[in-house]
Amino acid sequence: MKKALADESARCNELQMALDSKDSDIEMLGNQLQEAQLNPTNVENRLQGWLSIPNKSNIKRDGYWKRQFVTVSKKKIIFYDLEQDKNASNPSMVLDVDKLFHVRPVTQADAIRAKPEDIPSTFQVLYASEGESRRDLTKVSNLVTDTDATAAELKSKGHEFVNIMYHLPTNCEVCPKPLWHMFKPPPAIECQRCRTKCHREHLEQGHITPCRVNFDINSAKDLLIKAQTPEDQKMWVTTLTKNLPSR
Ligand SMILES: [Zn+2]
Ligand SMILES: [Zn+2]
Repeated sequence: MKKALADESARCNELQMALDSKDSDIEMLGNQLQEAQLNPTNVENRLQGWLSIPNKSNIKRDGYWKRQFVTVSKKKIIFYDLEQDKNASNPSMVLDVDKLFHVRPVTQADAIRAKPEDIPSTFQVLYASEGESRRDLTKVSNLVTDTDATAAELKSKGHEFVNIMYHLPTNCEVCPKPLWHMFKPPPAIECQRCRTKCHREHLEQGHITPCRVNFDINSAKDLLIKAQTPEDQKMWVTTLTKNLPSR
């Protein structure tokens, strides 16, 4: 009985995702039609292309990134393992656009396990976890955060700090002393939510103002997405940001 129920719920999830994928196709065709009628010479395609997301299953075997074909409609961001899966309406993941909190370029602190040379082409999508559907339901509990378990959480006044060393010019938001050094950087922390940066000693001294980001991080998930080039990253961030719900 339990198993039948689980099967049924997996089937429902699959059908819903297929529906999302079809919906998005219909919207695109509608847009193209409208566009073609208004402006026959300029039929613009909807935002879509190849991106990479972190590989969760076996990083050693498969590498850090996994390629995905991604399409964006007004309501959904849809990920496919293969371009053929798009024609088969078989997405691997669907995110609701109206559950997105932000889309922004990443810093070193957001992607501590990614290679430094990948940072300029990578961006972060933060969304409410209920806005996510996945084909493989068993993976739902597997959070998509890139937080290193050893970078034990430094939580204070709503911030979620990580330890970090700045080798390039960076200012402390609490005191005027340099926060960086090319060879021997001082211990520093950066909040993954609001990006406050300061010397670690200020945390111990309690000289930190509360975090400015006010959504509930515990119900949020973040997904790192790598574009093919830094220019590509800018295009995705700009376009997705335009589609964000206003809040
Ligand atoms: Zn913060
Ligand atoms: Zn300082």
